[in-house]
Amino acid sequence: MKAQPVLLVSEEDLLNEAMECPADRPLETRPLAQERAFAFWQKDIPEEYWHLDAQQLKERITAARRALGRRCVVLGHHYQREDIIQFADVRGDSFKLAQWAAQRAEAEFIVFCGVHFMAEAADILSQPHQKVILPNMSAGCSMADMADPEDVYACWEELEEAGVGPLMPVTYMNSAASLKAFCGQRGGIVCTSSNAQKVFLWAFERADKVLFFPDQHLGRNTALKLGISLDEMAVWDYTLPYSSLGGNDVEKLRRAKVILWKGHCSVHQRFTLGQVLEARRRYPDVKVIVHPECRMEVVQAADMDGSTEFIARTIAEAPPGTKWAVGTEINLVSRLARENPDKLVFCLDPVVCPCSTMYRIHPAYLCWVLEELVEGRIVNQVKVDEETAHWARVALERMLQVA
Ligand code: SF4
Repeated sequence: MKAQPVLLVSEEDLLNEAMECPADRPLETRPLAQERAFAFWQKDIPEEYWHLDAQQLKERITAARRALGRRCVVLGHHYQREDIIQFADVRGDSFKLAQWAAQRAEAEFIVFCGVHFMAEAADILSQPHQKVILPNMSAGCSMADMADPEDVYACWEELEEAGVGPLMPVTYMNSAASLKAFCGQRGGIVCTSSNAQKVFLWAFERADKVLFFPDQHLGRNTALKLGISLDEMAVWDYTLPYSSLGGNDVEKLRRAKVILWKGHCSVHQRFTLGQVLEARRRYPDVKVIVHPECRMEVVQAADMDGSTEFIARTIAEAPPGTKWAVGTEINLVSRLARENPDKLVFCLDPVVCPCSTMYRIHPAYLCWVLEELVEGRIVNQVKVDEETAHWARVALERMLQVA
């Protein structure tokens, strides 16, 4: 039986350190054995990787990357820790990264440092000879997991049986490939946080109502921007038993223009109106910029909201001396603070934690999958079956035509 790594640092210590929200330095990466509280989920990583420190990992990852050359690209999502981002050929949001990799035909291997639905999207958009690898297979997304495909199919069936429609399914990029395929097969579409408004307008040209999953907040914020009132929205509570209409009566669903799946992002849901007011009290000239996965009252109190790409670009292009209170994941906020030393950039939430699932991509996992590739072995490949990939691509291509 394999020996279990010793947890030298308590989970509480790790959380406390993360909650310091350092803007001037990245969170320190410890050997995997010590970070087990955050990162030790995929247990079949060989034992030799558990104890490598940040410097040893850096040397081995650099050597593996050199050996693989242009056959391999490493993608780093904005929410990845610095010790991963330093190896990324490109960083960005999930859609930008997937598109970028698909255009690198010489890259046989796409190592996606992000979460599972992102690797699936990269596989769907990649060329047939490309293989997508997720360094740690247990790096999922808690929001995407809130929309279990079986629950969504049951919801759709219930709505049809109740005569609620015509209905257009719209899924956020942060969802399983099977849900993107579900949309593709039913005339529906995918959206990102940058194009959600255009996608909703497209949907309303074709149907009376939108069923949006999995993020209720992005859906609600988008609908409000289009002038749809809260009275014209219903929330589908997927935790209730089948045949309960997601906690709604049929009249409410018939009246609704948008039916919102009751999912959320555990990171963005932490931001509050009180934090926005406190930032304005401390810095009356501050600009508040948040991600649209935040709650409605936070988005409405902010000066602007948008995708991670929008947030990064807006702050980079802002004049020196400006102040920015940011409502998104801490690794990105800390990086923006370091990269914009002529501005004050800080996180709205003083005790924010990193996205715990993104954090599962510890450099030890990156080192392992790269060294396996050097040896001619592929581990942790994410492969979407042909039928699912086809229909998911249909929904993604509709989105590309819209925005
Ligand atoms: S930040 Fe939220 S939506 Fe993004 S991967 Fe983490 S849990 Fe999922």
